[in-house]
Amino acid sequence: MINDLVKEINELNMGVDCGSDKVSILLYADDIALISDDSEKLQKLLNYMKSWCTKWRMKVNVKKTNVVHFRKKRKILCKHKLLYGNEIIDCVPNFRYLGFFFDEHLDFMFGTDLLIDSSNRALGSVISKFKMLKDAGFNTFTKMVDNCVNPISEYFSGIWGYVHNKKINKVHNRACRYYLGLPPKTPIYGFQGDIGWLLPKYRNYCNMVRLYNRLIKKENECLVRKIFLWDKEQPGKSWYKEFLCILEDIDYPVPDNNKYIDINNFIDKCRSHQYYEWKTLLISKPKLRTYMKFKTQFGCEPYIYLNISKSHRSVMSQFRMGVLPLYIETGRYDRTPVEKRICQFCSLNRIEDEFHFLIECCAYNYLRTNLYQKIDSIDTYFKDLSVEDRFVHMMKHHQILIVNYLLDAWTARKNLIYE
Ligand SMILES: [Zn+2]
Repeated sequence: MINDLVKEINELNMGVDCGSDKVSILLYADDIALISDDSEKLQKLLNYMKSWCTKWRMKVNVKKTNVVHFRKKRKILCKHKLLYGNEIIDCVPNFRYLGFFFDEHLDFMFGTDLLIDSSNRALGSVISKFKMLKDAGFNTFTKMVDNCVNPISEYFSGIWGYVHNKKINKVHNRACRYYLGLPPKTPIYGFQGDIGWLLPKYRNYCNMVRLYNRLIKKENECLVRKIFLWDKEQPGKSWYKEFLCILEDIDYPVPDNNKYIDINNFIDKCRSHQYYEWKTLLISKPKLRTYMKFKTQFGCEPYIYLNISKSHRSVMSQFRMGVLPLYIETGRYDRTPVEKRICQFCSLNRIEDEFHFLIECCAYNYLRTNLYQKIDSIDTYFKDLSVEDRFVHMMKHHQILIVNYLLDAWTARKNLIYE
């Protein structure tokens, strides 16, 4: 029955050109979308629809029905009032179709903003559930984010994955900050590098590649396939051109006609591109100068997998990213000159920075002796290293020992303040 409607509506020949075809109606479950490039033609489609529904005793909920005038930004909105029977259909700037909000200029900003907001709410509930789990670690957290948060922010991104929404990393960064127990002002390249997850931009690129792979496999008679082939030939903006741009962005070769893209290969390429981009940006951040000395590879750090308490993990990640409130950091708040941010807990008259805290400060000598003994028993060459090299060596290769030292020293420092 409903197929008759499609046939009859198509026969009216009022839709938009798509190659040698015209598209005038889209059906999905009980959703119907009528499409035309002219308001009078669209009114004729609506009239036909109305008489068809009357004939079959079906009702359209006009309150849930809207008109969107899709157009370029410079073009003014059509004033023509469209009717369903005697009722006026509201013209709106955006409409939710199959769960995604399409806006009148098709720049996808409105729709992607909403997806980001709702995935952010989903992250909130993932975090509250995660807090209640005992002994759940990084793998569990990653799985929860991958299954309950990312599918929301990536919804439909096969279509819009090239769009650069400014808020794109908001949820990703919040998830990283939560797991690592970091304050809001932490430099993002630090925790993005330590967590090592693929950034949303690249996940969206992958979804575009997945869509491309589906489209090239479809039968020629299939409507989406026809639209794909038509889009590909468009001289102006098109999905296919954006698709070529994302390939170019990560230096991925354009596939030969109708050739499949190996998705795992593509993900690898995204990872290495993310690594180079991260490395370039890292150099431009003076706050991460110390971090750069020991963090040379992008990717998940061993301490993240350790089965340690959240406070251990938090002290460690804050220390690595230069935001542990040592004097070097807190002095910034009251604008104390850097050379005056001297350690108050020993008489060495040195700036209290990460290096001083781990390597020099006499206040934690007893803890450090213990730490060095343990490392010496593993790496016999450790004692021959310069102090600078010791710092880097420990941060790279002895994270579990460092985590314990840091928490003990940090507790000792707090006690010294209150003495
Ligand atoms: Zn000191």
